[in-house]
Amino acid sequence: MFSALPDLPEDAILRLMALYRDDPRPAKLDLGVGVYRDADGRTPVMGAIKAAEQRLCDTQDTKSYVGLLGAPDFAAAITSLVLGDDMAARTACAATPGGTGALHLAAELVAMAAPGAAVWLPDPTWPNHAGILAHCGRSVRHYRHAAPDGRFDAKGMAEDLRAAAPGDVVLLHGCCHNPTGIDPDADEWAALAAGLAERGLLPLVDLAYLGFGAGLAADAAPLRVLAAHCPEMLIAVSCSKTFGVYRDRVGALLAVAPQPATRERTAAALAHLNRLNFSFPPDHGARAVTLVLEDDGLRVQWHDELEAMRRRIAGLRAALAAGLRQAAQTDQFDGIAAQRGMFSRLGLKPEHIRELRDRHAVYLVGDGRINIAGLTDDVIPTLCRQVADVLH
Ligand code: PLP
Repeated sequence: MFSALPDLPEDAILRLMALYRDDPRPAKLDLGVGVYRDADGRTPVMGAIKAAEQRLCDTQDTKSYVGLLGAPDFAAAITSLVLGDDMAARTACAATPGGTGALHLAAELVAMAAPGAAVWLPDPTWPNHAGILAHCGRSVRHYRHAAPDGRFDAKGMAEDLRAAAPGDVVLLHGCCHNPTGIDPDADEWAALAAGLAERGLLPLVDLAYLGFGAGLAADAAPLRVLAAHCPEMLIAVSCSKTFGVYRDRVGALLAVAPQPATRERTAAALAHLNRLNFSFPPDHGARAVTLVLEDDGLRVQWHDELEAMRRRIAGLRAALAAGLRQAAQTDQFDGIAAQRGMFSRLGLKPEHIRELRDRHAVYLVGDGRINIAGLTDDVIPTLCRQVADVLH
C-alpha cells in the first residue's frame, strides 16, 4: 500500500536548512529559518517561561486529562491578552497544538458551518496557509497584499475582494505579515474592518507574532477594531514566537460570536472537532503560558523579554536598510526599516538568491524572504556588500 503514496513537494525551508547544515564554509549565514535568534544566534527559553515551568514542576500533582477545549484558565488568559477583558462573553476558545493547529481547526469549523465559503488569502502569504486550507477541502482565492511601492495595497485588496461572496472568509495577518513585514496602518485597519463588516465577510486572523511589531498593545489593537465591527471572527493564535515555546505546541483558536448562545454552539463544535482530531490539546506549554500571564511578576519579566526581542529586530532593520542603501547605492531597500516583525523580502531575483548562496554562503528562501533576527550587527556590513556584489 505504501508504495502507492504520491511524491510530495519538498518543503522549501526545510530543504534550505539541510543545504545550510551541510555547507562547510565557516562564514555561512542562515537567513531562512523561521525562529527568533538572539545576538549569539541562539533561540533561548524565555526566563519567565523557565520560571513558570519550574513552578509547574514543583506544584503540579496530576497529569490527568484536561478538557477538550484545554484548560479554562488558559482560554481566559489568551482571550484577555488578545481581545481585552470585555470580549469573554462573546468568545469561544479552543486550545490547539500551536498556531498551525488553530488554523487547521479554523478550516474545519468553516467546512462544518459554511461548506461553500471560499477562503481569501493575501498574496503573498505564509505558504502553509494554502496547504492547510486545501488539505481541509477549502476553496482558496487570493487578494493583493503588497503594492509595488512596498506599502500595504489597500486598493488592490478592496478590488480583489469585490469578487468575494457574503459569508466568504478573509485571512489576515494580525501583525508582522509573513513574508513581507508590511502591515496596514491604523486608518487602513479601521477601513478594512468596516469594509468586511459591510460585505458580510468573516475575518480569520492569523496571529503568530503578537508583540514583535509595534509592541503588545499596538499589535493587539487591530483585533479589537475588527471585533468591534464584525459580528463574527476567528483568530488563530500562536504562542510559539510570543512566548518562545515553539516545540511545546501552544496555540488557540478564538471564535468571536455575536451573542452568548452562538458562542456556546461554537464552543461545542470546537470541542467536537478537537475530539475527532486528537482529543485533548497539549497542556504543559499552555499551562506555563497561563502562569506567566496570571502572575504579575512573571508577566512583567516576560513583557520585558519580548520587548527586548522586538527592539533588537527594529535596530537590525534600521541598520540593514541604511547599510544596503550605502553599499548598493539605491533606495530600493529603504522600506525594510519601517516594516515589522521577523521577516522582510529583499526583492531579489532568483539568480541573485542563488549567487548569494553559491558565492557567499548566504541562505535565504526562494522568494527572497529573510529572517531579520538571523542577523547580528557584526554581519550586516558584510551582507550589504555581498548583496551589492550580486546586484552589480
Ligand atoms: N502563521 C504564521 C504566519 C507563521 O509564520 C507560523 C509559523 O511560522 C504559524 C502561523 C504557525 O506557528 P506554530 O509553530 O505555532 O504552529
